Amino acid sequence: MMTTESAAGTTMRGIWVEELGTPDVLHLRELPVPNPAAGEVRLKVEAVGINFADVLAAAGQYLTRTRVPYTPGMEFAGTIDALGEGVTGVQVGQRVASLGGRGGLAEYAVSPAAALLPVPESFSAAQAAAFPVSYFTAWFGLKTLGRGVEGEWVLVQAAAGALGTASIQVAKALGLKVVAMASTEAKLNLARSLGADVTLLQDDPERVQKVRDAAGGRGVPLVLEVVGGPRFQESLDMTANQGRVIVIGNASREQAGVRPVELMKRNLTVTGLWLTSLMQDPALAREAAQELAKLLATGTVVPQVGQTYALADSARAFRDIMDRKTTGKVIIEPQR
Ligand code: NDP
Repeated sequence: MMTTESAAGTTMRGIWVEELGTPDVLHLRELPVPNPAAGEVRLKVEAVGINFADVLAAAGQYLTRTRVPYTPGMEFAGTIDALGEGVTGVQVGQRVASLGGRGGLAEYAVSPAAALLPVPESFSAAQAAAFPVSYFTAWFGLKTLGRGVEGEWVLVQAAAGALGTASIQVAKALGLKVVAMASTEAKLNLARSLGADVTLLQDDPERVQKVRDAAGGRGVPLVLEVVGGPRFQESLDMTANQGRVIVIGNASREQAGVRPVELMKRNLTVTGLWLTSLMQDPALAREAAQELAKLLATGTVVPQVGQTYALADSARAFRDIMDRKTTGKVIIEPQR
């Protein structure tokens, strides 16, 4: 039940996926404008942050089964345009970001009110959409689960990507020292510009030794592991005894093996991290939001907006992420 008049008509442009597969499954269609149910709001969507997880979900390769047909877009930002029944605390016309889960790639999208996040006044819509997934994940990985402390070294993989750039900034804000790995020199330049202390090409043949050397020959105490496959064993090899490896992603989409006795012998801790379930813990989500808000307010972290695409170019945006052509957070702007 809507409680306000809206400028939205009855139809809108949106992306529609009927079967899962390559990014070619993303089709631009004329779709009905969604109405917010009880507890939901509708946003006029100005920017959608595209994550590796969106690409995996559309390919049918994500952690959870993707129900079709659907409109992708798990994090987006815009202006509230209508309130569903029972929604309080936000108002029509307010700029917000949403971790709504799906539906962002359209001119209008509904979101549970509980999934909304405030947007600092100084942020563009693109910065607002670039923030939630990557910065909450970086915080949980470095602090909540990683327990990183000032002066420690952390290894950040895919360091020029959305999560990578967020992780470098949050790590530096926490006083950690960063070894950044990425696949090209241009990506390493970006990592350095954000404060990475040591940078390495991810195919450097000496990479394991160089990471260990960066941290005084003993290896790094903390690794944010996002590549998986054979690289997972390398991450263990780069980790100092008693170190922590936070498993956040599997960009290689290859299997990795763990030998429990190796963990035992070196007192290593391997911890999995999934943003979706951590955000369902109200205390953890609140703490992360408060700490990140402080970093935003002081300008210590600034969301890195990368390549930006029109709605009609969504398939190209997805393909560019998969082909490792992007840096920062890829943004799609549904109003153009
Ligand atoms: P990115 O913007 O970082 O893009 C993915 C990057 O992964 C690429 O740019 C590439 O960087 C790197 N990569 C390494 N190996 C491969 C490969 N074989 N194929 C493709 N890319 C590869 O994406 P996100 O920031 O969205 O995500 C980064 C990782 O973090 C992903 O694994 C994602 O699933 C994970 N993630 C997990 C979350 C969770 O809750 N567990 C939440 C957020 C992200 P390069 O070319 O430099 O190697």
